Amino acid sequence: MEKLVQQQRNYFNTNITKSIPFRITQLKLLEKVLTENEQLLYDAIYADFKKSEFDTYSSEIAFVLNDIREAVRSLKKWSRRKWVKTNWVNFPASSYITPEPLGVALVIGAWNYPYQLSLAPAVAAIAAGCTVVLKPSELPSATSAAMTQLINSHFDPSFFHSVEGGIPETTALLDQHFDKIFFTGSVPVGKIVYQAAAKNLTSVTLELGGKSPAFVTESAHIKMTAKRLIWAKFFNAGQTCIAPDYVLVDERIKAAFIQACITEIEQSHFSFENENYVQIINERNFDRLMGLLSPEKVVHGGNSDRHDRYIEPTLLSDVSWEDAIMHDEIFGPILPIIAYTNLDDAIKEVKNRPKPLSCYVFTKTNVTREKILNELSFGGGAVNDALMHISNPHLPFGGVGSSGIGAYHGETGFRAFSHYKSILDKPTWLELGLKYYPRSKKKLNWTKRIMTYLS
Ligand code: NAD
Repeated sequence: MEKLVQQQRNYFNTNITKSIPFRITQLKLLEKVLTENEQLLYDAIYADFKKSEFDTYSSEIAFVLNDIREAVRSLKKWSRRKWVKTNWVNFPASSYITPEPLGVALVIGAWNYPYQLSLAPAVAAIAAGCTVVLKPSELPSATSAAMTQLINSHFDPSFFHSVEGGIPETTALLDQHFDKIFFTGSVPVGKIVYQAAAKNLTSVTLELGGKSPAFVTESAHIKMTAKRLIWAKFFNAGQTCIAPDYVLVDERIKAAFIQACITEIEQSHFSFENENYVQIINERNFDRLMGLLSPEKVVHGGNSDRHDRYIEPTLLSDVSWEDAIMHDEIFGPILPIIAYTNLDDAIKEVKNRPKPLSCYVFTKTNVTREKILNELSFGGGAVNDALMHISNPHLPFGGVGSSGIGAYHGETGFRAFSHYKSILDKPTWLELGLKYYPRSKKKLNWTKRIMTYLS
């Protein structure tokens, strides 16, 4: 690991990655590698957890390809110096802010969208002019091997290299001095990464998780809400960082909403055969999820098959805030529904918990929408929809508080791997003598005037 990082640092120090044509060439190479090997990527992820081509393309490959194309299109604009005003104290001078790549970057991916979560940050790093060490999640082992094989056979390891492995390999990488660490994963491991980064004062982006609520208020369009929520929750079998973790529904529409959800689940025919469902990633997670299922609260679903790592889309009703399922992020196809009679109390309960990564508000009432959006702090979200905000590259994506630090996608991703240098550029044809010795009352009066009125 030490040798690899040193090799990348030496390469970075040649300044070659600072060239925009170089970055564009590398991004286009990645685009070519991904498009020419699409089938290999589909086969690998299907072997890991039966993710279909449609879902893999729409939620993984298309994301990365769009990020590449957007970066290639916009790189010149993003890299431009931004001129800003110069205050009179510095007259005559000009001032600008210019981005520079942070240096050698480490990208640590999570397993649930293995291509997107490993490669989209890597694209942002390359666009910004960093070198990249990628550590994909080891849980989807075929996917990790496919990405590693493709990257390592097409890119110079001094520039972009993938390291396969689990905790020991990640720990060894975290012992190295990187200039940027971009981590996607759980809150506990996020804390380990943050501590490791602190040793070298390395800049971090932490894309973490949490329990994202969905408010279904009295004025919600029940049928459309159920349609969008059920899709968002059970896509990837609930193994999505921004999946609606639980629903807070107005007591007055609870029965109608649950019935609409059941109808929607039945009409969706979730199954591997229909290619609209995936396996739970491993037995450990299967057992964890089954441990959260209280049979007396199941209003739909609840069946499972350990051999196939299949858990039916499951709805739980009459859930209380104290139930085990409300303690940690569920990250699986179980949707607890809590009814509220007072919206303020429901908001208060969410406020008393760690800040979520997402929040969804289903309502036709402006006042209710604004109330929830203003009173709660969360990473990002949607009104009358769920999940889809991630698909807009113009919306920065990231958490707040324990759901994360920093954000990416589009230009925000470029920024995450850049430092913005501030420069004051002064000509030599004039120098006002106010700051120089000797000092005098007259100079002080002039200084006061300039600093007060002309700053
Ligand atoms: P994880 O934290 O277990 O693993 C993430 C990465 O960290 C993996 O590459 C893994 O090898 C490594 N890792 C695991 N334990 C480690 C340790 N002790 N020391 C060093 N490295 C270690 O997370 P996961 O199970 O892959 O992903 C699920 C979590 O990620 C959920 O909480 C989910 O919400 C979150 N997530 C967040 C986002 C986001 O964009 N905010 C996206 C996907 C997943």
